[in-house]
Amino acid sequence: MNFRSLAIGLILSLVLGPQSLKAFVHISPSKPHLPVSPNNPTITFQWNGSAPVLSDKGDVFDGIYADSSDTELMEVLLKAAMGKWNEVESAYLNFEVVLNKNAVTNSEDEIYAIVVEDQDSQTVAAAALPSFQSSNPDDSPLKKNGHIIYDCDISVSTNAVSAKYLLKTLTHELGHCVGLGHPHSDYNSIMSYANSSDTAELGLDDKAGISFLYPEPGVSQKVKYMTSCGVLALRSDDDPRAEGGYRWPTLFLLLLPLLLGFRKQFL
Ligand SMILES: [Zn+2]
Repeated sequence: MNFRSLAIGLILSLVLGPQSLKAFVHISPSKPHLPVSPNNPTITFQWNGSAPVLSDKGDVFDGIYADSSDTELMEVLLKAAMGKWNEVESAYLNFEVVLNKNAVTNSEDEIYAIVVEDQDSQTVAAAALPSFQSSNPDDSPLKKNGHIIYDCDISVSTNAVSAKYLLKTLTHELGHCVGLGHPHSDYNSIMSYANSSDTAELGLDDKAGISFLYPEPGVSQKVKYMTSCGVLALRSDDDPRAEGGYRWPTLFLLLLPLLLGFRKQFL
């Protein structure tokens, strides 16, 4: 193998390699999922009706809730965060929220709750508590299954937070209830710690994750396999790869060894 073949191989692996590493991550190796089915797709969260002190209300939803109360906007934020996951057409899972002032965080009561409450941490806006492993031999078969997320409470801090950041955080925490963990290879994923975007949009991996766990019957034609690396991918209009965003840098890298060879030969 000559130098030029080596260089082209290295460049190809650099260009294609990062894409092949992209993948959603399950919250546990047992790949647990919520107890839903296409005929019974809804998980209902009980919200205790409280809200943190919300700042910068005008920064979300085109400012139409700028003068709303914290509680009014909190309800809208919860529904919007759930909507991000509900809108994935290739997944049947459906979240909804109802008001229950008595809702509490209890990881064993099999009630999905969103509770705004005082927290010790000053830095965590919200945290999800998915339950899918029971060590109690007296528990029901559902709890002992090991593959069923039989409870997932989201605890939201009463500490002041911007509306935009809380929307993103709620969307992320709901992703844990979906059954997804933290990927470390895709900065566009809402489930990634490294996501630097300030919006709550799902990434390609997030959509692939919920579609893997809750595949909508009859829409498999919307799932495409990328021939370059075999990663399960969904068509997405807001994914940069769908717009050819990588095309020019890729072309430049592929031509680089030829340009270098030209320079060596004639200069
Ligand atoms: Zn997380």
